[in-house]
Amino acid sequence: MSVATAAPTPPTRAQAALLAVRHAAGEDLEPLGAAALDEDIDVLLRISDTAQAEAARRLRRREQLPEPPADGASSSVAWLSWRCRMTPGRAADLVCVSRRLADLPETARALRDGEIGFQHASVMAHTASQVGPGAMREAEADLVAEARRFDVRRFSHLARHFRECVDARGALADANRDRERSRVHLSQTLGGTWRLDGWLDVEGGALLTTALSPLMKPIPDDRRTASQRRAEAMMELCRRQLDGGGLPLTGGQRPHLYVSVPVETLRGDPGAPGAEMRWSGPVVGELARRLHCDCVRTEITVGPGGEPLAIGRPTRTIRGPLRTLLIARDGGCRFPGCTRPPEWCDGHHIVRKALGGPTVLENLVLLCRFHHRCVHEGGWRIVRVSEHGFTFVPPGGRSP
Ligand SMILES: [Zn+2]
Ligand SMILES: [Zn+2]
Repeated sequence: MSVATAAPTPPTRAQAALLAVRHAAGEDLEPLGAAALDEDIDVLLRISDTAQAEAARRLRRREQLPEPPADGASSSVAWLSWRCRMTPGRAADLVCVSRRLADLPETARALRDGEIGFQHASVMAHTASQVGPGAMREAEADLVAEARRFDVRRFSHLARHFRECVDARGALADANRDRERSRVHLSQTLGGTWRLDGWLDVEGGALLTTALSPLMKPIPDDRRTASQRRAEAMMELCRRQLDGGGLPLTGGQRPHLYVSVPVETLRGDPGAPGAEMRWSGPVVGELARRLHCDCVRTEITVGPGGEPLAIGRPTRTIRGPLRTLLIARDGGCRFPGCTRPPEWCDGHHIVRKALGGPTVLENLVLLCRFHHRCVHEGGWRIVRVSEHGFTFVPPGGRSP
């Protein structure tokens, strides 16, 4: 009897490299100090860069073979997206690097030796595809020298300057295409929140960032992330535009945030319904109560079936002279530690207006939009301790 045994296939070099990296995954990190961890992080990210470069080199060789992409994929990008779980953008990036790197020997060498990162090589490859091999051949050594010196963002700026110098017409065509691709998607979910995403060209992104940055500075003890502060800043920017009255009229009116709210909701009666905000639909009662502190109010009397019977004149809750006094007294947000000036602030009624709290200086306090929200929706309480002195009590805290 004879038994045929197949010799085990030896692992490829790439498979062996993967096993070596996986070996690190089992290491106990407790004994490692800061310096050792820093060194490891650097080395592992270099491995990642080198691995991507090698994947790109193999991808180029694979594309030279006559067989079409495996698994029925229509292109290398489609195959990478499916098989290697990449976004199409990242897959396209890898394909671009794989096709260009053979014509960029300096770049390939610097990447292999760990002098530049994979993203530097990606910038080089994209620039080469934009300006053509001739211009790139002349400039490659200088550009690689810059890539060694600068981080990827700075280097990508230099590459864009280089492109403008050697291919101004192409750069202009791309800039025009970027503008055409600019768009902002804004849609409301069934739960009421809004989803915002989009694409801006260089000018649009700079405009938005310039307008938002002065509005997104952290306040003392700020625990919000930058993106949370950006969202608040965007709302603040809109609010200022609406309050400033510089926007074109719509339907013969100045555009403004419109909320209709039953009086029992303003009082906070148990079982009272929510309010209704134009564009957004139902909103929680506390939001309406916050807006009611400092707004233009129009009272509408309705009949038993909800039909309007009478409408009052629009009146501002805190009129000019009283607001001037409030600003003179408080100077800005009164929340402890907050230094936001009056332009950031609403006048808050300490005793709710709908519960009989008067709109007089003694019952008002200036709060920035963030802290006004902390008081209404966040559960902070304000207790008056003297004629013009207040203390702020955190949620669940005891009154002084
Ligand atoms: Zn308020
Ligand atoms: Zn504040």
